[in-house]
Amino acid sequence: GATAAMAGLESTFADELDALTVPWQGAQAPDPKLLVLNEQLGASLRLDTEALRSEDGVAVLSGSTAPAGAKPVAMAYAGHQFGGYVPLLGDGRALLLGEVKNGDGRRVDVHLKGSGRTPFSRGGDGFAVVGPMLREYLVSEAMYALGVPTTRALSVVATGRHVLRDGAEPGAVLARVAASHLRVGTFEFAVRRGEVLQPLADYAIARHYPELTELPETGHGNRYLTFFEAVVEAQASLVAQWMLTGFVHGVMNTDNTTISGETIDYGPCAFLDAFDPAAVFSSIDHGGRYAFGNQPAVLKWNLARFAETLLTLIDSKVDDAITAVSAVLDTFDERYDRHYSAGMAAKLGVAGTPIDRALIDDLLTLMEEHGADWTGTFRALADELRGNPTPLGEQVPREHIGSWLERWCGVLTAHGLGAADTAAAMDSVNPLYIPRNHQVDAALRAATGGDLAPFEKLLEVVTHPFDHRDEWSDYTTPAPRAFSDTFQTFCG
Ligand code: AMP
Ligand code: MG
Ligand code: MG
Repeated sequence: GATAAMAGLESTFADELDALTVPWQGAQAPDPKLLVLNEQLGASLRLDTEALRSEDGVAVLSGSTAPAGAKPVAMAYAGHQFGGYVPLLGDGRALLLGEVKNGDGRRVDVHLKGSGRTPFSRGGDGFAVVGPMLREYLVSEAMYALGVPTTRALSVVATGRHVLRDGAEPGAVLARVAASHLRVGTFEFAVRRGEVLQPLADYAIARHYPELTELPETGHGNRYLTFFEAVVEAQASLVAQWMLTGFVHGVMNTDNTTISGETIDYGPCAFLDAFDPAAVFSSIDHGGRYAFGNQPAVLKWNLARFAETLLTLIDSKVDDAITAVSAVLDTFDERYDRHYSAGMAAKLGVAGTPIDRALIDDLLTLMEEHGADWTGTFRALADELRGNPTPLGEQVPREHIGSWLERWCGVLTAHGLGAADTAAAMDSVNPLYIPRNHQVDAALRAATGGDLAPFEKLLEVVTHPFDHRDEWSDYTTPAPRAFSDTFQTFCG
């Protein structure tokens, strides 16, 4: 049939939570062309990737045609943006096409971004452009390869429409796959609509934390309080992984904080080159609210906004509800520290053993003082164990890091860890290749101009972050200082 590509999507969200959705369809793309298709992801969802490459498939991936039987909707949500409450945001340029089961039997969303205006567009044009959509594709797939929970990218289609940004730019639509698109902002919207709140919470629990559906609705250890705790744990783990990877999300508004614990909405994100807790890349983050080192605290703040939406479900006595969620929120720091310390222990070759916090902090201080490259330093430490001191010397001068190295080697010796095995273990958790900002920038520039080759090459490298290849040595180099000093990201 004409719309066989992606036929058979489910629409449980649209069916069960009608008050949070508006049936909608995408804009016609004047001249759609498939730029990139994630064959592996498509196959894992048992989608017919052959059909997706066809004219009909590209029409579906561009939003021009709905898949057979699908009920695409725009989702409503609210959110705190840079600390200020916005009562109505919603999918201003996106559509939920429907849901499909992944290889684990879990339901995932198929969602389009850049598919045209919706009732939630406010002043926006509803569109997206090639550079930022390929950026989300590349960075989300890199995060997946790094083992960080994330939405994934299925495709990018160029629409053939000229979209006005900084001048005319080629329009594009991203298709992405997510555990769901439920956000803290979805709950902030629902709590002000009263009767949809509990169905939303029950839907989120059934989908993301199904083991909690057996818990009682009320009383001590009830389903909604335990749900809150599960989201606190998932997000504490997630933000720890960002901090271990050197990832700056850039726009951690509550509408970009998921209930599933996946990273979502790769707009002005970037990876650190030189370690700097104050690093900010986004052109709109003037106050540094979403600086690298602020991310755990901001996440906790977002979880407090989430807690507020659940109070009436958790206890009919508001004081008791506040006491209960506060006690859970208070566990955030300990949960975060546990994930972060465990990750750092692995990065330093002592996985599974408690690590002295001062050993971590003193390394970070040295890295900050000397502008050491976040990714490169951990690989250099493994090289050091192999008897090659040159890479580490390029990050922090020997006379400064010598005494720290002695302490670290003392820990390894105390645990009976040999140099070669430790170095190999470190290399299996410390990536060699991340999406370096200057490389991403160059690849997207070329793609916007019609040359996809640098993007395809970079995609291959960053989706194999631990596989050393001599011919990929360019991709380990930090951005030149002149680039880093002026580099800014935009929402696009
Ligand atoms: P974001 O910063 O990408 O998380 O988006 C925040 C809000 O702005 C969401 O409600 C988006 O749907 C909306 N938005 C962003 N760009 C556009 C656009 N070009 N047209 C319409 N809405 C947009
Ligand atoms: Mg509706
Ligand atoms: Mg968003």
